[in-house]
Amino acid sequence: MKTVSIIVPCYNEEAVLNLFYTETQKVLDTISGYRFHYIFVDDGSQDKTPLILKKLSNTYAYIDFLSFSRNFGKEAGMYAGLKHADGEYVIIMDADLQHPPALIPIMIKEIEAGYDCCAAMRTSRTGESKIRSAFSRTFYRLSNKLTDVNLVQGAVDYRIMSRQMVNAVLSLSEVQRFSKGIFSWVGFHTKWIPYENVERTIGKTKWSFWGLFKYAIDGITAFSVAPLRMVSAMGFIISIFAFLYIAITLIQTLAFGIVVPGYVTTLCAVLFLGGIIELSIGILGEYIGHIYMEAKDRPIYILKESSLSYTKQNPANLPKEEKKGP
Ligand code: UDP
Ligand code: MG
Repeated sequence: MKTVSIIVPCYNEEAVLNLFYTETQKVLDTISGYRFHYIFVDDGSQDKTPLILKKLSNTYAYIDFLSFSRNFGKEAGMYAGLKHADGEYVIIMDADLQHPPALIPIMIKEIEAGYDCCAAMRTSRTGESKIRSAFSRTFYRLSNKLTDVNLVQGAVDYRIMSRQMVNAVLSLSEVQRFSKGIFSWVGFHTKWIPYENVERTIGKTKWSFWGLFKYAIDGITAFSVAPLRMVSAMGFIISIFAFLYIAITLIQTLAFGIVVPGYVTTLCAVLFLGGIIELSIGILGEYIGHIYMEAKDRPIYILKESSLSYTKQNPANLPKEEKKGP
């Protein structure tokens, strides 16, 4: 009998967890021939989430939980879940019931049919503000132009993956994770199943506009150096214009003598170049920031408690002699 691990990252989800379990279990009960194993990841919730998870795992043998020492973000939650999942297939889904459990049987059918991954894709964005949707569309367009990875519009993290793909995802051990890009970067055949967006009815979203903006910038810088090339290209183009302008001014001065007015030109040039330089430093800074965070090699998450008999910290967390490799 194949085992399917279900990873559920949870952050302050006390209001919906029990309902999530009953709704998902209703669907799982209709699927025979598989053993399901839930791994809930409490991402440092401040509410009763850890208590509810403990209760669930004490009641049902097929439910386990991991609890972080603080909030590390959904990316860390998914990574920890994937690391601890031992099923042949692994499902990742949100706790807020925005990822309809009814898709699970379809996903299993598709992966059995030979796909390595079957992922959900929102066809609508109901309940989302127009500005947020517009920004999101621009991000996808920009990201697909600038990076090697192809992000599918409306793709969500809700998916089933084969063991081979999960291992590939785990082999990318970067600290600043951008799973949407990672899932696409590792390759493998993915079947997309469209679904109508479900509005969150219980609890509230953990995303702020600024949070999403930062996530988008991280996504692009994690998978592409195109912005750095843009800085070089911009410098090159500006240099050509500057050179032409110097030549023209020199000729003018030689032919007609020194003309004093030129205040506006000077001001414009200084301000324009100042802006471009600031922007370039900013872009460079983004990459240096990434290098800095990766160079520190801090653990992606820190476990506080778990119902699993085995727990895996990030290797960076282990004493040196326990680390694998040279
Ligand atoms: N989540 C998490 N850590 C966080 C933020 C969110 O584990 O720091 C979980 C959250 O509990 C939920 C999922 O990630 O199960 C998606 O979060 P949310 O519903 O806030 O995002 P949205 O659906 O609005 O994109
Ligand atoms: Mg949600």
